[in-house]
Amino acid sequence: MFSGFGVNTGLDNNSYSSLLYDLKSGIVESLTLIPSRREVIVKYLSGVSKTVPILRNDQTILRLAESTDTHLEVKHTSKQDFNSSITASFTLGILFVIFCSIVVKKTLKIANKSLSFLSGKAAFNEASTIETRFEDVAGIPEAVEEVKEIVSFLKVPENYKKIGAHIPRGFLLTGPPGTGKTLLAKALAGEAGVPFISTSASQFVELFVGIGSGRIRNLFAQAKKISPCIIFIDEIDSIGRTRGYGIGGGNDEREQTLNQLLIEMDGFPLNSGVIVIAATNREEILDSALTRPGRFDRRINISLPDRKGREDILSIHGLTKPLSDSVSLKEWAIRTPGFSGADLSNLLNEAAILTARDNQKRIGINQLEAALDRITLGLRRYPINNKHQIRIIAYHEIGKALIAHLTPLTDSVDKISILRRIGNISGSTRLVDLDENNEGGFSSKKYLQNQLLVALGGRAAEILVFGNSEITQISANQLEQATFIARLMVTQYGFSNLGAISVSTNNLDRSLTNELLKTKSIYANKTNKQIDSEILLLINSAQSSAVNKIRPYLFIIDMMVDLLIEEEVFTKSRFEDLFDSIYNTQQN
Ligand code: ADP
Repeated sequence: MFSGFGVNTGLDNNSYSSLLYDLKSGIVESLTLIPSRREVIVKYLSGVSKTVPILRNDQTILRLAESTDTHLEVKHTSKQDFNSSITASFTLGILFVIFCSIVVKKTLKIANKSLSFLSGKAAFNEASTIETRFEDVAGIPEAVEEVKEIVSFLKVPENYKKIGAHIPRGFLLTGPPGTGKTLLAKALAGEAGVPFISTSASQFVELFVGIGSGRIRNLFAQAKKISPCIIFIDEIDSIGRTRGYGIGGGNDEREQTLNQLLIEMDGFPLNSGVIVIAATNREEILDSALTRPGRFDRRINISLPDRKGREDILSIHGLTKPLSDSVSLKEWAIRTPGFSGADLSNLLNEAAILTARDNQKRIGINQLEAALDRITLGLRRYPINNKHQIRIIAYHEIGKALIAHLTPLTDSVDKISILRRIGNISGSTRLVDLDENNEGGFSSKKYLQNQLLVALGGRAAEILVFGNSEITQISANQLEQATFIARLMVTQYGFSNLGAISVSTNNLDRSLTNELLKTKSIYANKTNKQIDSEILLLINSAQSSAVNKIRPYLFIIDMMVDLLIEEEVFTKSRFEDLFDSIYNTQQN
């Protein structure tokens, strides 16, 4: 390319040495040195230019330019900069294109998802035929009776239409989670032999206003096509809570969805054959518009099963699980107060898993025990090595158990353990209410006072044995429980010197701000102070009663603690036998 014009050397025209020669020969007009690129652009008097590579920090060129009086210019343009700027802009360009395509893809995805209500598949499960029957639902016979009339309406609607009766359009099933609300709705559809469309109201609440109501329209359109049928909407509270409440005001999307549901329910004709069953465990927060006549005007409350109900539920779920002959479901029903149907089914399932793990053929008492511990106490943690800590835990548990044992009209000891469970700093003492009469939601003042004693039993033992200044924080959970009970006694049940007054602060979350203001204006500061001092009085007197109650049994406590540390777990019978034998030895 370079013809070597003006170069007389015969050397490579583009070489460094020819440049030196040319400089000395005086045929170079100027030099432009670019250090960062390690090259020099040579301009000849003839007008020709060429680029010659040079060495880093080349002093020879500089000196020669000076001595030959050649014009020299230094340029600080970087080849790398140049290259990298090209690369950078190229990379940035590519990144920008990738970014744009991701954004476009995501937007399309969201749009597709949000608009998928148009296809009608996203918000509810397709109608299906149901195999569940009323005989699969145990422990809630009243609720089953209530829904039986819907079955006969769905089967022979003429009988109802003839005499001008109309069946409610909506049923509201209320009650704690796992009590069988979904199961009952399914059994209803199964018995009536009609399709069952199920959904959860939370599926309707979306980011964009209007999508939820679109889904509701679609749901009802489908239902009308296949009528008679059952629409089951779980967690209705997620769209059906009182409108205009809540921190930050209402939620447009939720309100529109709820309005659409109300419109649809008003819109379909009476006795159309579409029956909507909604379920919630938060009935108190529902908008009153939902429960108005013509909408969900029939309400069926399902409560936790009683002892007989628990036994029936266990027998239903026990049908598919081989139980050993030693397992008495009646006994397990007694040991599981407060369990819902779902909890009971879970108990048998956990036990079945443990049985399979142990390579056994039938579920035995040991597996049921382990399953109950897992459900009520949580997963086991590694044992504690600190002997002093183990001793504190043992005193704590024995103290609590002893108070329960010594106090009539309270729950009895079912199991004591010093093994720690995940999330629990102390051991555990499981108490069970053996008096069937106490089931059904009644709690006398005496029973609650005794509950306070039991809750503070562990702390009482610590105070007695280690002294007031040596007690630890392991009673924190029990203190919380005691305070909760005491607060209920004072503010809601009228079980204190404050008198028969209800200072209810229920459902605060429903309208936190409004209710707080209301509570504030209704109850004077003086009343609030009295409430606090009554709660304190109840707890402090329960604490000293608990200490006094176990003081005469310190000898028994010490012996039981030693044995518990050795054995780690006491069953109900072991605890009771030990107590009797130590007590009798002491008396003789
Ligand atoms: P909910 O809808 O009230 O939260 P579910 O109906 O979903 O409760 O119950 C979950 C599971 O628990 C059921 O599938 C069933 O196996 C069991 N279960 C709950 N209640 C009962 C009951 N009354 N009888 C038999 N099984 C029950």
